[in-house]
Amino acid sequence: MKITNVEAMLCDGGWWPWIFVKVQTDEGVTGYGECSDNRVNPYGVVGCVKDLTPILIDRDPRAVEALYWEMYRLTRPNLGGVVQKAIAGIEVALWDIKAKMLGVPLYELSGGPIRDRVRVYWSHCGTYRALYSEQLGTPPLQTMEDIAKLGAEVVQRGFTALKANMVVPGNPSYTIWTQDGNLTRESAKAVELLISTLRGAVGDEIDICLDLNFNFRTEGIVHLARMLEPFDLMWLETDIYDPQALLQIRQATEIPICSGESLYTSRQYKPYFDLHAMDVTMVDVAWNGFSESRRIAALADICEIAVSPHNYYSHLSTLMSAQLCASVPNVRILEVDVDAVPWKDDLVTHLPDIREGYLYMPKGPGLGADLNEAEVAKHPWNPRTDTVKLQRLRGR
Ligand SMILES: [Mg+2]
Repeated sequence: MKITNVEAMLCDGGWWPWIFVKVQTDEGVTGYGECSDNRVNPYGVVGCVKDLTPILIDRDPRAVEALYWEMYRLTRPNLGGVVQKAIAGIEVALWDIKAKMLGVPLYELSGGPIRDRVRVYWSHCGTYRALYSEQLGTPPLQTMEDIAKLGAEVVQRGFTALKANMVVPGNPSYTIWTQDGNLTRESAKAVELLISTLRGAVGDEIDICLDLNFNFRTEGIVHLARMLEPFDLMWLETDIYDPQALLQIRQATEIPICSGESLYTSRQYKPYFDLHAMDVTMVDVAWNGFSESRRIAALADICEIAVSPHNYYSHLSTLMSAQLCASVPNVRILEVDVDAVPWKDDLVTHLPDIREGYLYMPKGPGLGADLNEAEVAKHPWNPRTDTVKLQRLRGR
């Protein structure tokens, strides 16, 4: 069995492109993977897949680890970033081929399923409605009453947990992003009002997380964490590239700390895990690959850290993340985006089975669904709109 073609495809995801990788073989079996970028470097990832293709052509796709480590070795001076994303998309597609050849779900190749279902949370709750209500066809989020209604909708639709960004309703509504890393009084008050409104709307039985992304430095994060302690958050999430600073934050608050989504490979996670600088770690299968995500989860497990897959892309990524959740013991909960462009469901041959706040593990061979390439082709990414969308994402 030989690889005959490798290619990356961009698909309009509404506010950024979804990136898919296809690996074809001489036996007619095709594997798919997703490695969507976080909005700014899609062509870097696509270009890197192209750069890696000569390593793969005419090779047996079933020797997944051999090909992974060869791609890793040859790109090692560029560890992480778009390179690891490209490797991840290819590696998942290789696993998809191997599992399809054997007629089993991918998790069976790692001794799974370790669980039949995994709890999910409604992520970016309000974020897309605040920024893209027109594209989504949802009512805009203009008032705190709208936020409360959204909280009620989360409960009504069966979710037991949600994660919010720093959404500020208004006309227009926006999300807080900083360039200088400073937490202003205005922002702190807006965040406190958001979380108190959500807590009031969902009651005491629903878990709430807040994601600060990279927006504040240690001082601001600690200030916000202490301010939010009365609201019993499941976690406060932040990205920060200094493990000692994250440990300082964790030790300064009662709220569990989640971090790590922008780290690549177990080597980048290790300094954080060695310090026990977080309670929950985000691991992105689309950015690390299946095997590397399992290694990160194993490393986290021996440091008593739970894993929550970072997953805010297409359904293919959700299925990839489900494979991880079916393969490792220390899973806390899985991220899923609920609000999306109308064609999201058309892009895969089988939708993830999400009911009453849980995702039930896919049963089909490989990832559990194929990419519907004809539908992907109907929604090409238009780079001319990219700049406009980026400007909107900056918020205020
Ligand atoms: Mg995050």
